[in-house]
Amino acid sequence: MNLQKANEYTSKLFSTNWVTWVHEGTKPAENNFEKSANALTGSFSKHCAMCLNLNGCCFVKEKCPPKPLHPNCHCYTIDIPSITARAESPIEKFTKYIFAKGNSKKQLFELWGYDIMNSQYLQKEFINQAKLSYSVGDYALDRLDDYGQRINIEIKLKRKDKEGYVTFQSGWMVYPNGKIILTTPYGDK
Ligand SMILES: [Zn+2]
Ligand SMILES: [Zn+2]
Repeated sequence: MNLQKANEYTSKLFSTNWVTWVHEGTKPAENNFEKSANALTGSFSKHCAMCLNLNGCCFVKEKCPPKPLHPNCHCYTIDIPSITARAESPIEKFTKYIFAKGNSKKQLFELWGYDIMNSQYLQKEFINQAKLSYSVGDYALDRLDDYGQRINIEIKLKRKDKEGYVTFQSGWMVYPNGKIILTTPYGDK
């Protein structure tokens, strides 16, 4: 990160207003298994899966799912001073998805000079960039469903085939307490 970028980042960091989504009386879903359990619970109880799976998730004020989310939604948000962003990405998103035989994205990444041997590098790069961006609210809301809120984050990669960079959108699922997990390395948006 150059100095100008670092300054930008710092000023954003201090001007970002965070909120936590609260669905009172239930435990936030920390992993995919618990999200699935909530989605199931939502199908037969009075609790709604969407709200159960937003519980504990952090958003910047101006990019938060709408409240109330539906009639009789009792969810609310509380202001929090900041978040400790954490980004995770399974290595398989690269080894078994992007670089899977026949995946059209494989050709794209290879065109930019990346192959399956670079999976670990890409994993690290995605995690670092997404963590930084999310921590200053640089994301866009994407689909919200029974599993929760997905967000898009821009990834910028240095081309290895020639000078310059490529930028594209990656998709992440929001988890409680500042955690996001990569769902789609390369979105078509
Ligand atoms: Zn609800
Ligand atoms: Zn609700």
